Amino acid sequence: MIIAIDVDGVLADFVGYMLGIYNEEIAKPQNKQLLYHYNATQPIDTLLETEDFIKVRGIAESQNGIEHLPTYEGAEDFIKQLNRGHYVVFATSPYWRYKNWVWERHAWLKNTFNCEDNRIFFMQDKSLLAGDILIDDYPKHLDAWAKTGRTCIKVIRPWNEKINCAGIPAESFEEILSIIAYSSTNG
Ligand SMILES: [Mg+2]
Repeated sequence: MIIAIDVDGVLADFVGYMLGIYNEEIAKPQNKQLLYHYNATQPIDTLLETEDFIKVRGIAESQNGIEHLPTYEGAEDFIKQLNRGHYVVFATSPYWRYKNWVWERHAWLKNTFNCEDNRIFFMQDKSLLAGDILIDDYPKHLDAWAKTGRTCIKVIRPWNEKINCAGIPAESFEEILSIIAYSSTNG
């Protein structure tokens, strides 16, 4: 099968990284949990264009932060396992206001997973991608994919766990692999 996989919130801990900058460099005590309250139904641009997040973004850019994002534990092994039986492609929606996002994301994917260039897709509408299964954490992408009649897997994170949307819920990479194994054998 062709497995399309999102990056931020699934493989890369974008929120954790941005929260770290915010807490270390900017936050007043009363605001420290702001990013934990990130609600996936709120457009990310709205959240990130607040004054504080323009500062966070500037610091991230100065660190080439997107090129050095932390992975969620087990992400490398997860992709290795998926690659054994499937054609894995990375479907990532760029944050255009971050100047070198596309270059840094490309470098991160190459360095982290040693993937080929033709496996990397930058796109706002992931439902246009050919693929059998989408793995994502963002309700809008999951709902759009499900409307095309294809299976998707919702990676549960603090910012989406209370949001009702399409996708078979998965709490871990192990659960995702089980769902995919089941889909492979049961069509
Ligand atoms: Mg995501």
